[in-house]
Amino acid sequence: MATENKKGAQSVILTASGAEEALREARMLAMTLLCERGGEAPCRLCPACRKIEAEIHPDLIIVRREKNDKGQERREITVDQIRAISKDAWIMPNEAARKVYVILDADKMNLSAQNAALKLLEEPPNGAVFLLCAANAALLLPTVRSRCVVRRVVGAENAPDAESGERAEVFLRLLAAGDRLKLLRWCVKQEGMDGREAQSFFEALRALLAELLCLRRTDIKLDRRQLFQMDALSERCTVYLRANVSVKHIFGLLAADAPLGSGNRG
Ligand SMILES: [Zn+2]
Repeated sequence: MATENKKGAQSVILTASGAEEALREARMLAMTLLCERGGEAPCRLCPACRKIEAEIHPDLIIVRREKNDKGQERREITVDQIRAISKDAWIMPNEAARKVYVILDADKMNLSAQNAALKLLEEPPNGAVFLLCAANAALLLPTVRSRCVVRRVVGAENAPDAESGERAEVFLRLLAAGDRLKLLRWCVKQEGMDGREAQSFFEALRALLAELLCLRRTDIKLDRRQLFQMDALSERCTVYLRANVSVKHIFGLLAADAPLGSGNRG
């Protein structure tokens, strides 16, 4: 079960088949977090966005596998590398309101590095955000995974379509409104979706949840516990879909188990 960390620092695992893809997404997330114009999406034009694009922003710290004497990448990310960022994370940001740490090939952290990372994720310094890029999130300790939101980076060709994005948005707003009956009615209407559409819906839903969890968006009123619960439920639904459970059953599960917001009841 994912847990909320109390100091408001967010940790995300970005899984992508290619390291480049993951890094691109991490830069994008970092821009959203550090953009000086502070909109919902990064402007990509302000000094902060440009520095991130060029990877020269002082509050964007990218950890890569070190190279050995022959210039080859080492097999592992070492505990010393993680300890270095643990120390650094307690130092105030230079220019922005927070610091963003990107760990590339996070699934290549050795065991002691992962344990050090775990400590950091459990008690993160105020305002530090950790983005762990991993080809295979399953190689991370379950305790590490449970403290992060896992977000799969999809290539442009697999990105959820606009319709799925809208559906995800409607669904979360219904959830936030806190009316189970309305939610149920909406879910019943979605039963006509085919498997691919449903997959795309959950893809969009998880992307939207990640945005809310990273505070890229704050306009849907669900608390962090509910967002984490919803993320876990979406993951379960995706697994069921892949196992050919019918769309009807999955939306039934969603209607029954989705964590409701408090809506107008305060
Ligand atoms: Zn910007």
